[in-house]
Amino acid sequence: MAVSGCVFCAIVRGQAEASTVHEDDSVVAFMDLRPVTPGHLLVVPKAHAVGLEDLEEALGARLWTVAQRLARALRRSPLRCDGVNLFLADGEAAFQEVFHVHLHVVPRFVGDGFRIDANWQVRERGELDKSAAAVRCGLLALTSRQS
Ligand SMILES: [Zn+2]
Repeated sequence: MAVSGCVFCAIVRGQAEASTVHEDDSVVAFMDLRPVTPGHLLVVPKAHAVGLEDLEEALGARLWTVAQRLARALRRSPLRCDGVNLFLADGEAAFQEVFHVHLHVVPRFVGDGFRIDANWQVRERGELDKSAAAVRCGLLALTSRQS
């Protein structure tokens, strides 16, 4: 399952250093090496998966469950945490840098400097309906492939 050269697989195998906060049969969580804010965590499946395309849905749900629990823990910790972002970058275009799927848990507070720039403009219903139809087309492709 482990992929050579993958830093997260090395952490899972205990061959690379990490500040771990959670480990179970399928998932490990540790501090991000370059934290956006103190307490920034990564939740990682032990089995190597590049992204959402090759991550079992049940394992994805497990990632979320652990991330949710850690988010709640952050709010009870001595770290500054007035809010939390869960963030997953799937693919280079989405800012993925380590190609072993990971879910960020980022403690947030006003003035922490973290931001995501985008054009948040409200769109016309027709445009939204057209996008919805395209997504339904993708869902249909998934069910016809049984994956
Ligand atoms: Zn890996």
